[in-house]
Amino acid sequence: MAIVVPETATARRRVTILGSTGSVGCNTIDLIERNRDRFEVAAVTGGSNVARLAEQALRLRPRFAALADPAGYGELKRALSGSGIAVGAGTEALVEAAEHPADWIMAAIVGAAGLAPTLAAVRRGGIVALANKECLVCAGPLVMREVAKSGATLLPVDSEHNAIYQVFDFDRREAVEELVLTASGGPFRTLSADAMQNVTPAEATNHPNWDMGDKISIDSATMMNKGLEVIEAHHLFGLPEDRISVLVHPQSVIHSMVRYVDGSVLAQLGQPDMRTPIAYTLAWPERMPAPVARLDLAELARLDFEAPDTGRFPALRLAREALRAGGTMPTALNAANEEAVAGFLRNRIGFLDIARLVEHILSEMPAGETDSLQTVLEADAEARRRVGEEIVAMAG
Ligand code: NAD
Ligand code: MG
Repeated sequence: MAIVVPETATARRRVTILGSTGSVGCNTIDLIERNRDRFEVAAVTGGSNVARLAEQALRLRPRFAALADPAGYGELKRALSGSGIAVGAGTEALVEAAEHPADWIMAAIVGAAGLAPTLAAVRRGGIVALANKECLVCAGPLVMREVAKSGATLLPVDSEHNAIYQVFDFDRREAVEELVLTASGGPFRTLSADAMQNVTPAEATNHPNWDMGDKISIDSATMMNKGLEVIEAHHLFGLPEDRISVLVHPQSVIHSMVRYVDGSVLAQLGQPDMRTPIAYTLAWPERMPAPVARLDLAELARLDFEAPDTGRFPALRLAREALRAGGTMPTALNAANEEAVAGFLRNRIGFLDIARLVEHILSEMPAGETDSLQTVLEADAEARRRVGEEIVAMAG
């Protein structure tokens, strides 16, 4: 009998990492460096950390390295001079990186800033591993339309959505009754609303289970992260808001579940280590070994669950309302949240002000259509402008 050698075993997969200097980016590079025989790097991009981007580029030898911040161009150019690696800076350079020839692209820029490069990656029609959930929240219909048009394969990296992807019966969508997103509950799961009033950015970024970038860590603390994930799941799997539920599960071992019409519930379990979902997307449709600790359920002994408390965590309710309202409301929700989180990280507003500001902006914003990138960008900018004004007024 002939042995069929999968294509990935013979040719090295050319990969590009958008947001290579971040938490997901570094985890992706860790896996690539352990599997040099399977991958070669086409392009890498960073925000403003020139030293880390240059150091990654010199190790990985991509053809192109791009920095979002134009101010760092000279320094990056000097650091990579003589290496043969082409250098760029600014938004167009990020899009150029996404358009570089590659078989697989990791979209791991944080925030709506990742929208243009992620769209460019999608339009190429190859495999896109999507970590940047904000681009689906702010422009879901647009991104999914481009995916359909280009025939790109969109593989979710977010652990919950990656879990669902692994157990979702795409051939029998009608048999899926409900998606169950699990949530750790964040560092303030058991804190009273009163006590949350005075928490610091350092306390809020100290996640009990996951080691992540600052923005998503704050989102986990407010539970806006789970709200963004409900919207992300809606676009990825096509289920309405009322068939996507959230279950607090403090150990983060069950990464999410799919409930079927016959009562079966399928789940994916693992350690809370992003290298598992990233490895799933890197090797797809094969599997590859990942250097993560193995799950020992006997040692763990128990798994706990509770319903989310939308009284103490109003962000979850706000995200559901924005999704139900549709149009550019999720765009405004995301933009307002990004600005409010940045304000909290700079100690300009309190922790509870984040959801308060988002609610205030949503109550004022008109709901536009998300028919074009232009309308999305306008709603995004308008929500940011309004939050900026509110923060100035609060500080003054
Ligand atoms: P991070 O802050 O650690 O890294 C973000 C990356 O984006 C960095 O490379 C940074 O330089 C770059 N960047 C920041 N601002 C930019 C801008 N304006 N333009 C271009 N590039 C910019 O964030 P992260 O934790 O790695 O998260 C990345 C994305 O993945 C987020 O959307 C997050 O929600 C999602 N995600 C992360 C995790 C995790 O474990 N960290 C898990 C699930 C989903
Ligand atoms: Mg997640």
